Amino acid sequence: MTLLETQGLDAIVFQNLSNLRYLCGFSGSDGALLVSPGGDCFLCDSRYTTQAKSQVVAAEQQESRVKAEAIGGWLTAKGAKRIGFEAESLTVAGLERLQSKGPQEAEWVPLSREQLAFRACKDADEVAAIQEAAALNAEALAEVLPLFRPGAVERDLSLALEFALKRRGGEEKAFDFIIASGPRGALPHGVASDRVLAAGDLVTVDFGTRVRGYHSDETVTLGIGAVDPRLRQIYDTVLEAHDQALAAVRPGVSLREVDAIARRVIDEAGFGDYFGHGLGHGVGLEVHEFPTLSPRSEDVAEVGMVLTIEPGIYVPDLGGVRIEDMVLVTAEGAQCLTQISKSFRSL
Ligand code: ZN
Ligand code: ZN
Repeated sequence: MTLLETQGLDAIVFQNLSNLRYLCGFSGSDGALLVSPGGDCFLCDSRYTTQAKSQVVAAEQQESRVKAEAIGGWLTAKGAKRIGFEAESLTVAGLERLQSKGPQEAEWVPLSREQLAFRACKDADEVAAIQEAAALNAEALAEVLPLFRPGAVERDLSLALEFALKRRGGEEKAFDFIIASGPRGALPHGVASDRVLAAGDLVTVDFGTRVRGYHSDETVTLGIGAVDPRLRQIYDTVLEAHDQALAAVRPGVSLREVDAIARRVIDEAGFGDYFGHGLGHGVGLEVHEFPTLSPRSEDVAEVGMVLTIEPGIYVPDLGGVRIEDMVLVTAEGAQCLTQISKSFRSL
């Protein structure tokens, strides 16, 4: 692993489950991968021994009940003096345990999300899994769409979508679905509630599933019957922001600039105060992962990244709109991986 060289490390301890899956194939819920110039070692307890034997690619495998002691013992045996760890996911208590069981006087080096961004650029198999997850989104929404009508309950719609995704092979819902209708649309993260849909509502539906560990994440906003012209204007503004940002994605572009393109459209329409979140994020083994599209982002698009483009406008007491697609950065620009049309639809 090149991080060992670039950071001058004798070893790196990985415990983040997405990193474990990516680096050595392990899909269980607890384990550790120890990487050193002399070879790697995977550790897990007896619940996962059999699974690890069939999944894990590592030079050495150990079964151990007390993980910190086993990790510390391995690092001590290797004579590791500078040891990297995952700064974003290892807890303070977890680090203290490793320090107390590890080599005495070792230097523990926090590795940042930028330094650990090796999952950002996807290969063809990873893209295929994300594409399959996006296809399930399209099929599930098509099935459930007739239920979106006055009298429907947000929570029932959420369950129907989850059921439709799972029955088609989706492994698990990617997150608690957001079904935010009418004035609840002003809540960017309004998870499905007991609210009953009414004619004239816009309904924001943010949902996704998982295929071979990889996620889909997509948002459609639907009209129920005839909607207020102000809501329609908001929809058209968000769609324009989405389209312009999507068209700007290409290798080498600053993701702060892509965010700014969408934000400018929304500002100029007079809704700048109502778009509070960043434009998007990377998607893969985690729903939200490196890189980030926001006014503060320092990240740059690279071929193989899968990004969301998800501008929104949320007006208290009125409602809201978000439109979200996943795009793959390609040598030519960007390819949309999500399939559902984002043209305005009134049901
Ligand atoms: Zn989403
Ligand atoms: Zn998203």
